[in-house]
Amino acid sequence: MDLGIRGRKALVCAASKGLGRACAMALAEEGAEVIISARGSEALEATARQIRDQTGAKVVAVVADVATDAGRAALLHACPDPDILVNNAGGPKPGDFRDWSRDDWIAALDANMLAPIELMRLTVDGMMARGFGRIVNITSGAVKAPIDILGLSNGARSGLTGFVAGVARKTVRNNVTINNLLPGPFSTDRLDATMKARAAASERSIEAEVEASRAQNPSGRFGEPEEFGKACAFLCSVHAGFITGQNLLMDGGAYPGTF
Ligand code: NAP
Repeated sequence: MDLGIRGRKALVCAASKGLGRACAMALAEEGAEVIISARGSEALEATARQIRDQTGAKVVAVVADVATDAGRAALLHACPDPDILVNNAGGPKPGDFRDWSRDDWIAALDANMLAPIELMRLTVDGMMARGFGRIVNITSGAVKAPIDILGLSNGARSGLTGFVAGVARKTVRNNVTINNLLPGPFSTDRLDATMKARAAASERSIEAEVEASRAQNPSGRFGEPEEFGKACAFLCSVHAGFITGQNLLMDGGAYPGTF
């Protein structure tokens, strides 16, 4: 299927590794020009090279912290009028809520709620005026089923989800859709960190924790970032213009509800 996004400009935040990287790669494979960002330059430049080599797409790499005003300004300087926006940032630290200060909460809100809202605010009117826009927010399965040690994530991402539910109905008439992609366990650095934290909390070994998590998932495995990237690319395609305000869970069936 041709996704119909050849030549579109895609701004993909937090994309030197993991799920953001996979989204950028999948969009580039479809002929989009991608603007990728991360705070560290080494992995970012390596990813930019790999995407160029594998797809032949134009790739611009911007070292920027998406959780800051300066970082977002740098992103929009490099790509003032994106057709596609993939919002992403690192997840907040795990732990016990009794140990979290106001600063911890503000950091989580900045990265996982306010940064995507601000980037939507700064780009959505241009998309609406041009009659095409696709926004995908990478959130978490924790929005549907909270993860006990990730309370900062459960809270901040739920705020973003509530906001998106309202605004997504205000843009679709102009062919601008806004959806959230909710990862369950995907094989990335972030999952490794979560496994380490769970192992520490349960006093099991990391290997035992990984095996238990894999076995517990109905699919018997963790997701591969490429699978996530392809789903993101579809939501960014011309064929997905009637899908908005949705929360698409990709978790191998882990969430047990009927809906
Ligand atoms: P990852 O493999 O750790 O990659 C995170 C990427 O984001 C890196 O490229 C990192 O580069 C960049 N980044 C982090 N903070 C940033 C910031 N403030 N500004 C710009 N770039 C930033 O993580 P992932 O597994 O892809 O996860 C992506 C998101 O999905 C996270 O929010 C995570 O919590 C969530 N999630 C993941 C899973 C999973 O199983 N993997 C499950 C549920 C939710 P730099 O460090 O160089 O900036």
